[in-house]
Amino acid sequence: MTIGWHFNNTYSKLSETFKENIKPIPVTNPDLVILNKALASELDLDFSKIDKEELSKIFSGNLLPDGSNSIAQAYAGHQFGHFTMLGDGRAVLIGEHTTKSNAKYDIQFKGSGKTAFSRSGDGRAALGPMLREYIISESMNALNIPTTRSLAVVKTGEKIQRETSLQGAILTRVASSHIRVGTFQYIAARQKENELKTLLDYTIDRHYPEIKNSNNQALDLLNLLIDRQCNLVVNWMRVGFIHGVMNTDNMTISGETIDYGPCAFMDTYDPKTVFSSIDQTGRYAYCNQPVITKWNLARFAECLVPLINKDKEKAIKIATETINSFEKKYEEKWMNMMRDKLGLFGLDDKDKFLILDLLTWMHEKKADYTNTFCHLMNPEPRKNRLYEDNDFMSWKKRWEKRLLNNNNSPKKYLKLMKNNNPIVIPRNHKIEEALEAANQNNLEPIKKILKILEKPYDEQIEINDYQLPSSSTEKYQTFCGT
Ligand code: AMP
Ligand code: MG
Repeated sequence: MTIGWHFNNTYSKLSETFKENIKPIPVTNPDLVILNKALASELDLDFSKIDKEELSKIFSGNLLPDGSNSIAQAYAGHQFGHFTMLGDGRAVLIGEHTTKSNAKYDIQFKGSGKTAFSRSGDGRAALGPMLREYIISESMNALNIPTTRSLAVVKTGEKIQRETSLQGAILTRVASSHIRVGTFQYIAARQKENELKTLLDYTIDRHYPEIKNSNNQALDLLNLLIDRQCNLVVNWMRVGFIHGVMNTDNMTISGETIDYGPCAFMDTYDPKTVFSSIDQTGRYAYCNQPVITKWNLARFAECLVPLINKDKEKAIKIATETINSFEKKYEEKWMNMMRDKLGLFGLDDKDKFLILDLLTWMHEKKADYTNTFCHLMNPEPRKNRLYEDNDFMSWKKRWEKRLLNNNNSPKKYLKLMKNNNPIVIPRNHKIEEALEAANQNNLEPIKKILKILEKPYDEQIEINDYQLPSSSTEKYQTFCGT
């Protein structure tokens, strides 16, 4: 049967240091829950002629495709600031699939059983969190934010023990690669320069071939990653995404968002918003995300020091200066992103005050972040008394005055706003509802929310229910180690 897999497994050809050769542990009774046909087609894969039983075997890892060569990858990471040796403790990379246009993607099973890196974990994952990752990662992609993707979720037919007994599941994750800041940290900690150079060469070959012939590849890679991660975090801030566990092992070198554990979208605007139950100090709060991005990039720079310059002191000085370019870059990109959200063309000295005053108002009045921008784009459909507030009205007059400086038609500024302000995001309570139903074998709510989130920038009929924040006053909490 031709599915269209084309495996070319370059990472598994690296030395033993980088991985453990291991197959997914077979599961008792695999049962396909969801398959991403649109993504399959983007990958030039065709599953249309395969029955559900066979698909269940494929996406549980019970039936490995020809050409695959599965491994668990070694990596380390700073978790909440503390350095730990980690690795794929509940995932295996079955190989790198190459599309007809020569794009290469890691195909990874998450929840596939114990590996050498499992420590005290069971190597498994639960249905709820795997479906949650599926929904949010696909939504991020539709929001035009770089992300790993989700190809399938399969129930294993096995129970796993968390606080309660849960249904086990496996997610097929698709990524440009799974190389992380933590991968560099793992190799750098071994203090063998040849291994570090191998990883650098591999990374450049795979993600940044444009610097292959540069004089200082390590420094160029650092600069490129600063740019990519800066763009990424600005995008998160744009839509109110809170990653929740920005440990260095959860930061990719490709610049894709990875690891949808305790993440969630902010509803009421509050810069200090934290959803993760274990983030007691708010290290990964909404407003800290840029600061932590820089912190993680500094850890990346430390790994590269031996390759930046033979003279260690010189290398540290160069790396520090480079990392310190982050704030300026971030500020500029963030300002431009906020200008786009407000439909502002060109630059005006007073833009920063205009933007900050709106955010301050939203914070004080507990306004919904997403819906405030929706209101600015189109105040009519859902009248909301909040926006009749005097302070808001006078802010709006300033904004309208600034729009006049645009020298552009309302059509043009509205288009800019519409491209940058989602009218629907994955609302926490709607995801919970869909997951709850899926746990009871009802997949309709998941299908519905996925369909709506496919086009987050488009007007859609009858989605009011998906646009409103939860009416519950209870604080939403998310959990790690799921
Ligand atoms: P995460 O919080 O998903 O980023 O995971 C952090 C580390 O814990 C990674 O090395 C994971 O592979 C590992 N891990 C998480 N859950 C499990 C589990 N159930 N069994 C084994 N390892 C796990
Ligand atoms: Mg992780």
